[in-house]
Amino acid sequence: MMKSWIPVAEHSDFPIQNIPFGIFSTPNKTARPGVAIGENIIDLKVLDENGFFSHLPFTKNDFDVCVLNHLMRHGKKHMSSLRNRIIELLKEGNNELAQHSCLPEALVHQKDATMHLPVQIGDYTDFYSSEDHARNVGTMFRDPAKALLPNWKHLPVGYHGRSSTIVPSGTMIRRPKGQINPSDDTPPTFGPTQQLDFELEMAFITFDGKPMGESISPDEAADHIFGFVIFNDWSARDIQRWEYVPLGPFLAKNFASTISPWIVTLDALAPFHHPGKKQDPEVLPYLRFQGNYHVDIELEVSIIPENASPTVVSRSNYKYMYWNYAQQLAHHTIGGCAIRGGDMMASGTISGPDKGSYGSMLEIAWKGTQPITMSDGTARKFILDNDTVLMRGFAEGNGYRIGFGDCSGKIIG
Ligand code: CA
Repeated sequence: MMKSWIPVAEHSDFPIQNIPFGIFSTPNKTARPGVAIGENIIDLKVLDENGFFSHLPFTKNDFDVCVLNHLMRHGKKHMSSLRNRIIELLKEGNNELAQHSCLPEALVHQKDATMHLPVQIGDYTDFYSSEDHARNVGTMFRDPAKALLPNWKHLPVGYHGRSSTIVPSGTMIRRPKGQINPSDDTPPTFGPTQQLDFELEMAFITFDGKPMGESISPDEAADHIFGFVIFNDWSARDIQRWEYVPLGPFLAKNFASTISPWIVTLDALAPFHHPGKKQDPEVLPYLRFQGNYHVDIELEVSIIPENASPTVVSRSNYKYMYWNYAQQLAHHTIGGCAIRGGDMMASGTISGPDKGSYGSMLEIAWKGTQPITMSDGTARKFILDNDTVLMRGFAEGNGYRIGFGDCSGKIIG
């Protein structure tokens, strides 16, 4: 098994097999690109200044900037070369960086750094691609016999969301206010949501796509995807219920979404791809694929009440998706929609088949009818003020883990 000369703890999210990209700053360093290894960050601006990437087509400006979009503009092939070069430099036995005078400046401890949004997000799209989630919601709010709407198994349902309120892990989230109308017989009222929920999702971040008017096939999708983050699509269920007819979610979803700050590359996740469950009925030709596009990523959600220890409320897995990421990108572009570097596309709530694997409080507490108990004895139907929701995830390799770091947000009133 490949190892680094930088020490990495056994269950670290960031072994040399991972090398995810992010944007960090310290009191002495402006926000800039870095990669995570063990408990450290490698400052890529310092490595570039010292000539470690001189054989690659990147420029000084690509590294001296507070988003990854400039690096990503060089596309999949060159970003893979950059990551491979970093792995080479960090590999046990390689002394180029290990014995270089710039090492003290290039190595930053994660506890001394602040993480920022890794990319300037252009457009954000949210899908609805977990069959178990769609079936649960359809069962709760419609007819259990017709839980899935007629289109659901023919296309990956989605909507265009809002990128301006996607924030990195650790950002406080203010409880949103809005119109609420629990009964059809009364007029709506205005106030803070009483049904604040999380949605456990994964999101992929794109490279530039093709020109407007062209489409990306499922088997071309990987060329246009940089990597993944964990995505908490915070949702206000009472606001959603009143506003969503007939155009779908609006203010119930646009007040905040939290992401884990490190982009785990598709390259790092390559060994964890599997064929998904067979799709029935067969999909239209433009959604058919040859490769494996389901990814085995174990996911866990905890609620941490103020001054209490975490309570795990869900264990799910990204492999449970019905529609995979390649089909999502293919469907998104089939009408000619242009995709730009830094666009973010979320999977939809990832629920598994069992109660312990549901990806939202709406399902876990089944519309508030089955509250769950926290470690401090208090009950939850939805998320309360001063609760922190923590999502974590990793792909399990042979002797290592490809992890994502924390995706955490605290609710304030
Ligand atoms: Ca969602």
